[in-house]
Amino acid sequence: MSDTTDPKALAEKAMAELAQRALDPTPDNYELWYTVASGANPGLNREIEKLAETGTPLDDTSLKTVRSKYMSPAKSDSAILEMGGKLEDELSGVMQMLESATKDTGAYGASLSDVSAALDGERSPAEVRVLMETLVTATKTMESRSKQLEARLQESKAEVTQLRTNMEEIRTESLTDQLTGLANRRNFDETVAACMANATADGSAFTLVLGDIDHFKKFNDTYGHQTGDQVLKLVAQCMRHHVKDPLKPARYGGEEFALILPHTEITDGVKLADEVRRTIESKELVKKSTGENLGAVTMSFGVALFEPGESAGDLIKRADACLYSAKHAGRNQVKWEVSRDLEAIAS
Ligand code: GH3
Ligand code: MG
Ligand code: MG
Repeated sequence: MSDTTDPKALAEKAMAELAQRALDPTPDNYELWYTVASGANPGLNREIEKLAETGTPLDDTSLKTVRSKYMSPAKSDSAILEMGGKLEDELSGVMQMLESATKDTGAYGASLSDVSAALDGERSPAEVRVLMETLVTATKTMESRSKQLEARLQESKAEVTQLRTNMEEIRTESLTDQLTGLANRRNFDETVAACMANATADGSAFTLVLGDIDHFKKFNDTYGHQTGDQVLKLVAQCMRHHVKDPLKPARYGGEEFALILPHTEITDGVKLADEVRRTIESKELVKKSTGENLGAVTMSFGVALFEPGESAGDLIKRADACLYSAKHAGRNQVKWEVSRDLEAIAS
């Protein structure tokens, strides 16, 4: 059984699958077979098995459909594309090496046949000696070519593993807000879409909380943008403190934050938002460089429960409407849709 965690073993397996199926060594193909080898995406493996069972050829067309169903769409970031290009070059190199190794093996086989044919019949000891020398030379050449190939394959394997690590780092970076370390807008969009799909599939509750810092423009104007940035970091820290995996805090706009709460009823979402709100207002801000007391910042929140069938835009709009009703009601509070029977949490 293959090791499903060792990247080198996975890379090797993915490359072997590509070669065996005569598929082009594109980054997409490589990623797909690497994922299959790792077993990290069970739905994908089931689909591949199903195609094999029904005799559907695993060609570019069928794999494109599989990829669109089970794998995240290709990212357009130039860095990811660049990595993909390097990976493609590396894999092309490996394919060329394998082709030349096949030719070498063929040539060696031909030498063996020639010697074998020449040995048929009467041969003087001197002639046999010449034939043996030919054989030894061919074998030595083959041995040295095999060693070269092995060394080059090892190098290539290391390179591919490194590229894959780099690609994963870039993807994580592309989903993270640089200032606060929270999920960024792209991550927010992807996560909300995934939570909506799960909630629709299993009927579970999915609550979305949107939060916005109160009078932040005034804070920036008074204390400067850099100090404002420190406040954004503090808010992120408070959110992380209360909202643990798999619940996800995100910075989805300048001073706008979100709590993505799968498997969470709106009542619990409201409670959580209020805990975050209270933690933030309790923090006394002190400017490190001068020791100046900057008072406290507050935050307003709007909470909405996903309704199956609605779009992400509609869900966000409903949460946003609640957020703005919190602003209009005086800020530093949590609001949710009054039409919902939530008196229990109003107290
Ligand atoms: P409200 O209570 O109604 O939300 O008032 P507000 O002043 O917070 O709202 P407004 O939308 O007018 O201002 C948002 C401010 O957030 C303006 C902008 O300078 C600030 N902001 C947005 N992104 C950043 C950032 O990355 N760093 C800093 N320091 N400030 C930011
Ligand atoms: Mg705002
Ligand atoms: Mg604001």
